[in-house]
Amino acid sequence: MTLDIVTIPCLSDNYAYLLHDAASGDTAVVDVPEAAPILRVLQEKGWRLGTILLTHHHPDHVQGVDELRAATNAQVIGAAADRHRLPALDAAVSEGDAVRVGGEEGRVIDVSGHTVGHVAFHFPQTAALFSADSLMACGCGRLFEGTPAMMWESLSKLMSLPPETRVYSGHEYTTGNIAFALTIEPENGMLKSRQTEVAALRARMQPTVPSTLSEELATNPFLRPGEAGIRRKLGFGSDAEDAEVFAEIRHRKDAF
Ligand SMILES: [Zn+2]
Repeated sequence: MTLDIVTIPCLSDNYAYLLHDAASGDTAVVDVPEAAPILRVLQEKGWRLGTILLTHHHPDHVQGVDELRAATNAQVIGAAADRHRLPALDAAVSEGDAVRVGGEEGRVIDVSGHTVGHVAFHFPQTAALFSADSLMACGCGRLFEGTPAMMWESLSKLMSLPPETRVYSGHEYTTGNIAFALTIEPENGMLKSRQTEVAALRARMQPTVPSTLSEELATNPFLRPGEAGIRRKLGFGSDAEDAEVFAEIRHRKDAF
């Protein structure tokens, strides 16, 4: 049995995700940009929310928590490292801890970089990763708090997950991310096809998430600092550290 996942667009470009275990009826949500769209889907589906999982403290990921908690009585789980700046937590978790949705156990992965204390949730049976503003579709989150080396270490952990893992990230930024990626790798054929697929999805107003980790490994420049072509383009030799090349790609994206 795997979890059913429902993508819920919130605010202008955020996503919340419902995770539902049909056997037990248990339901969780990852991030709460606003309560109303989440409550609407819970009602349509007839699901009862048991758990709210938080990835990081930014308002566009947590500002609906109090309203959603009041309406559902759900337990709120977030990073111990971020406890002081998250809504009140019922449980605080760190790297390696388990979070349960019905019969499936998810793992907490520390993915600091965008913020220090940002966590991702990996559900291996369902092959789903909720990465919010760490690994994003064809991109990664801006480094508001962490260093490039820290974000590179976080992304490296995610890169070692099974390639079929679906990546549910926090925002609909894919069109812009691909436009930037093409400045780094203009000749990447898979990236060019991804641009066509994403344009077709957006023309129909459909989400471009989830992607798969294998797709990210092949097209996301932030996961590809080891590629010889990228290194040549950016003026790095084969002796450069991946983290240095990553830092340069992130720097160019900030200026893009
Ligand atoms: Zn954020």
